[in-house]
Amino acid sequence: MPVPLLDLRAQHATIRDDVVAAMLEVVDAQAFILGEPVAKLECEVAGLSRTRYAVGCANGTDAILLALRALDVGPGDEVVTTPFTFFATAGTIHNAGARPVFVDIDPATFNILPDAVAAAVGPKTKAVIPVDLFGQMAPIEQVQLAARGLPVIEDAAQTIGARRMIDGEWRMAGEAATIGTFSFFPSKNLGGYGDGGMMVTQDEALNTRLLKLRTHGSQKTYFHELVGYNSRLDALQAAVLRAKLPHLAAWSAKRRENAAYYDAALADVAEIRTPYVDPANESIYNQYTIRADRRDTLQAHLKERGIGSSIYYPLPLHLQPCFAYLGYREGQCPEAERAAHEVLSLPIYPELTQAQLDEVIGAVRAFYGR
Ligand SMILES: *Cc1c(COP(=O)(O)O)cnc(C)c1O
Repeated sequence: MPVPLLDLRAQHATIRDDVVAAMLEVVDAQAFILGEPVAKLECEVAGLSRTRYAVGCANGTDAILLALRALDVGPGDEVVTTPFTFFATAGTIHNAGARPVFVDIDPATFNILPDAVAAAVGPKTKAVIPVDLFGQMAPIEQVQLAARGLPVIEDAAQTIGARRMIDGEWRMAGEAATIGTFSFFPSKNLGGYGDGGMMVTQDEALNTRLLKLRTHGSQKTYFHELVGYNSRLDALQAAVLRAKLPHLAAWSAKRRENAAYYDAALADVAEIRTPYVDPANESIYNQYTIRADRRDTLQAHLKERGIGSSIYYPLPLHLQPCFAYLGYREGQCPEAERAAHEVLSLPIYPELTQAQLDEVIGAVRAFYGR
């Protein structure tokens, strides 16, 4: 029985009527740029994230870029971040004209190490970007302490609706950061039918700057106070996302249920380590990422049986050819490098059937002779 890593058609089948009706409304109105669906989605995402403001943009990459620009990050500045993330986290730092400074990760959660951030913050540091990897929040309150008052951009592309207990209170992904950024790429927990992104903040002045930056730096049409971008969230995407948003909590709960099922069924396989979730966190499991002995052979074994899996991420960003000019060498972020050799993400999407879960479990167990 084939088990894809992600089956978007299975999800679409459960919501087709609602999504198609929402898209048709936009098509019939012929109002495609920003407008009501975008404004309403911004309100809803701000509500979910418990932030005062939310600003839609073209994708999750631009969300980080616009956040950096809103904070005046540019040439001569350094931004401290993790090398174990999707490329966009650091590509945007480069594209803003600043220099990425990579620090190592916590091997248990794969998220950035606050102590390493503290050691890397210097006179040129202008911001810190922790990433909420695979669905659980980075220790944002510890990163903020390590950042010593500098702005913190929380790359929450994989983590919309996740939460973390901080000082006895639940905090949503994006809530505590200076600016939080989301992606609506189709494979994220809240995925559009195309590209999309959003930024959230509690700060009125930053909200105003983000609104300007997404429309060429202008608030009043044809008057430009700064040079911005054309980075708007499409009304069609906003309509799709509004139809999907009411399902997000149940979908993420189903992912947690699937994760718990895998955890129990794979607990005795000593050659793999199932994901560790910080007890302060509630993960939304954008990925279910194990560490595995003989990882590449396991992946080939799964592929032979029609089971999808993926390596997020095979080469840490400090070792990417495009960042050779930064001068990093192997051994400088040993935990990120080790993770890159050991991680494998297994199918975790909410529409997986019991039989599919059992198929994955059986194949992994068989590989290690259980
Ligand atoms: C997906 C992702 C992004 C980029 O989002 P896009 O919408 O694809 O531009 C940025 N950071 C992380 C960690 C991501 O997973």
